[in-house]
Amino acid sequence: MEKVYIGLGSNLADPPAQVETGLRALAQLPRTRLAARSRPYRSMPWGRTDQPTFVNAVARLDTGLEPRELLGQLLAIERRAGREREGARWGPRVLDLDILLYGDCCIDEPGLRVPHPHLHERAFVLVPLAEIAPDLDIPGHGRVADLLARIDASACAPFVVDARVAE
Ligand code: ATP
Ligand code: CA
Ligand code: CA
Repeated sequence: MEKVYIGLGSNLADPPAQVETGLRALAQLPRTRLAARSRPYRSMPWGRTDQPTFVNAVARLDTGLEPRELLGQLLAIERRAGREREGARWGPRVLDLDILLYGDCCIDEPGLRVPHPHLHERAFVLVPLAEIAPDLDIPGHGRVADLLARIDASACAPFVVDARVAE
């Protein structure tokens, strides 16, 4: 079994519900256990800012699926959620599932790069990832909590405000 981190995002068709449905689908993958999940976060769009606000979360899986098998399963979950791929990159989407990390594997192949190449600079990934794995090391970049301290994380906040955290 490998420890794998998945980033989830949605900004169309009831985003919080899409993210929860995505998490349930991850938990049902073959040879896979949903080991941890972050809360949902509300995030400003990245890359193309002229689109609706996103809901993002991060999950940790323990899985026996190989990286390519896992990617195929993620793309199938996105398709079942109704995602269409003709739009521009970084445009609005019903559900996006990215492999952030796969154990300590580094993969650089056409169609699959792990660790995810933008992981270390995206608040909407680092904020939920720091909730479930602050001490995780991103190969080539460092500890999640240290990376988060270096970026502007103000564009990503818990979807439901927790009064104890707001104090
Ligand atoms: P970004 O990858 O910058 O977050 P995106 O998620 O919007 O952008 P997509 O259109 O969802 O990009 O994916 C395009 C392709 O990226 C996928 O078909 C997949 O083959 C490839 N890809 C490469 N590395 C990964 C990865 N680590 N996780 C998921 N997809 C990946
Ligand atoms: Ca993505
Ligand atoms: Ca993607």
